[in-house]
Amino acid sequence: MTPLGKSNTVKAEDARSVTSMEIEEQTFKNARFTLRNILIQYLFCAFLLFGIWIPPLFIYFHHHHESYQNNTQESESLLSLEKYGHQQILHNPGQIPRPQAVTDPSDKEEPKSPRLLSLKNNNFNFSDPELTSGLLKYGLNIIVSKSLGYQRDVPDSRNAICLGKQYPMNLPTASVVICFYNEEFHVLFRTVSSVIYLTPSHLLEEIILVDDHSEYDDLKEKLDGYLEIFRGKIKLIRNKEREGLIRSRMIGAGHASGDVLVFLDSHCEVNRVWLEPLLQAISKNPKMVVCPLIDVIDEMTFEYKASPLVRGIFDWNLQFKWDKVFSYEVEGPYGPSKPIRSPAMAGGLFAINRHYFYEIGQYDKGMNFWGGENVEISLRIWMCGGQLYIIPCSRVGHVVRNQIKRDPDLERAVIENYLRVVHVWMDEHKAHFFNRRPALKFKSYGNVSERVKLRKQLKCKSFQWYLDTIFPELEDE
Ligand code: UDP
Ligand code: MN
Repeated sequence: MTPLGKSNTVKAEDARSVTSMEIEEQTFKNARFTLRNILIQYLFCAFLLFGIWIPPLFIYFHHHHESYQNNTQESESLLSLEKYGHQQILHNPGQIPRPQAVTDPSDKEEPKSPRLLSLKNNNFNFSDPELTSGLLKYGLNIIVSKSLGYQRDVPDSRNAICLGKQYPMNLPTASVVICFYNEEFHVLFRTVSSVIYLTPSHLLEEIILVDDHSEYDDLKEKLDGYLEIFRGKIKLIRNKEREGLIRSRMIGAGHASGDVLVFLDSHCEVNRVWLEPLLQAISKNPKMVVCPLIDVIDEMTFEYKASPLVRGIFDWNLQFKWDKVFSYEVEGPYGPSKPIRSPAMAGGLFAINRHYFYEIGQYDKGMNFWGGENVEISLRIWMCGGQLYIIPCSRVGHVVRNQIKRDPDLERAVIENYLRVVHVWMDEHKAHFFNRRPALKFKSYGNVSERVKLRKQLKCKSFQWYLDTIFPELEDE
């Protein structure tokens, strides 16, 4: 055996052991390599999942924060009246700012209603006392409302056909009557400024504001001062005690001198060319009462959302509802711009020839607060020789407030108002109402003799006629 042999053997052994070491090392290297690959893949996936979103998210939040601050600062700077001029007040806040996002642990739940959906999608910070106290006080998001300032542009929600319409110069003039009670200052001011800026001056006789004995301080001297910039166009009437919407509207109408009365709620924003289509319809037929198509201003985001074509109806409980329009009404090339015959109006927003308003008996002054008056005036218009239409080329946004507080006085008043409608206007069909609300059958509703007399004087048709001719679908309810 040579050492070589030995060495060979050794070498051979060594070679074997080297080989196994190498194999181990190789395996180890391979394993490391595979591990590194897996790690790199993981890191890459993680980057794809999170990393790629970081820069845009950062840019978004940064921009968002800045635009929110800018908007807030902008609206604050508008607080000084000296700066007011047409130019300054017409600032365009652009994107609607949103309050800071917070994580809501219940976010993964399926939203149950549209309202919940809108709240959840926006992740409002309900631990912010300004937001929650504002919601309780006004039923809307005051942080966003303030940030929007005193005037803003809203998207033109009209159908393209409406854009090509021409209106004559010599339309009747309008007195816009806006009653308010404890309204949020910016919301009220935007209502007024939108009317001023989007109505041709020669058609706007005046805006009549009726303060229904509001309690909030900013609606007193501060409001007087702010309205100064619209001097000459505004009449502000302050009720000595709370009268409710129905009597406040009659007070407002009593101070009006325009040919047409246009009633608006104190939380609206009118759209472009909103008034002309209403005035034109009335100028053709003074017994035509017309409503704009009511777009929705979200009470939390203040986003302006276009509404579809609808008509107004009610059920046997006298609950007002929106209903789809019959296809034959919107057929043809001009279909979406044609007036929609409506069995009822929502109540807040409509235009009526001023003399005709008195001729058909204004409102039932025995009604308190609000509620039911919209059904009452709708029945009266149709049954006593008038007509009621929604004009889709006229668009006005309205904030549907989130009423959290219950008001027992109001609830009592609404029931009494409904009873007055039932007893004066529904003839034998009142049985349908009482079948659904038997507890109300013997409830008092004040004296309605004046309204019964009015119905006779106006030679109004029967409720059966209304069912047969205007609203046959009610019978199938
Ligand atoms: N309003 C009023 N006096 C009242 C109750 C309401 O002047 O006692 C005003 C209110 O500020 C608003 C309008 O009447 O401008 C309609 O009220 P609301 O918006 O609450 O009715 P809705 O739109 O919810 O039917
Ligand atoms: Mn309203």
